[in-house]
Amino acid sequence: MSERIVIAIDGPSGSGKSSVSQAVARHFGLQYLDTGAMYRALTWHVLNEGIDLTDASAIVSAAQDFPLHIGTSPDREEITVNGVDVAEDIRSPRISESVSAVASVPEVRQLLIDLQRQFIAAAPKGMVAEGRDITTVVAPDADARVLLTASEEIRMARRGLQLGGTQDQAALQNQVAERDKRDSKVNNFTEAAEGVTLVDSSELDFQQTIDAVIAAVQQQLNR
Ligand code: C5P
Repeated sequence: MSERIVIAIDGPSGSGKSSVSQAVARHFGLQYLDTGAMYRALTWHVLNEGIDLTDASAIVSAAQDFPLHIGTSPDREEITVNGVDVAEDIRSPRISESVSAVASVPEVRQLLIDLQRQFIAAAPKGMVAEGRDITTVVAPDADARVLLTASEEIRMARRGLQLGGTQDQAALQNQVAERDKRDSKVNNFTEAAEGVTLVDSSELDFQQTIDAVIAAVQQQLNR
């Protein structure tokens, strides 16, 4: 394969898009960008700086001067803010509950979208980029675009397992369903845009989901 390939994958929370996207990146020999991790790391930075989540202009300033380092290997997560390893902390309920407030500020989105496009353009062989607006806004011209979804019940159960059973039903509802509701004011990630293949993983196990996404990508690449 000599040409660069860009693959865009979107989906709601708990759809399994991060681990599936990493596997798809490994399969095609591409780099991997978790755009949700970027919004999460910025939220960590905003909270760390003691910024009020209702203060949009302070959040924009923090985004303009954001000392982020994010790796693009699909084999290991590497994400630091000002040299501090935040890989684990950005997955905590504290960040999940605050991230939509940061991600819904339009200037913040524009800054991170520009950064995401730079990462995609810089990947020598290409990239699998995943998030909420990759198929529609960040890379609508990607070579292959997939919307990965699953029923709300299944997504809440998966997220609960990921968090080691530490969250009760109300907390999971807030981190999955309520977060999706807040995020969907900004982006539509529940319906596939034109040219985007929908993969519903509700009835699929992990390997079957990876296989279904690879098949959808391959079909688009062969077009
Ligand atoms: O994918 P993940 O659940 O880690 O995303 C965390 C949050 O980042 C989302 O709830 C959303 O607020 C924001 N996000 C976004 N656009 C993206 C990716 C994530 O607004 N492309």
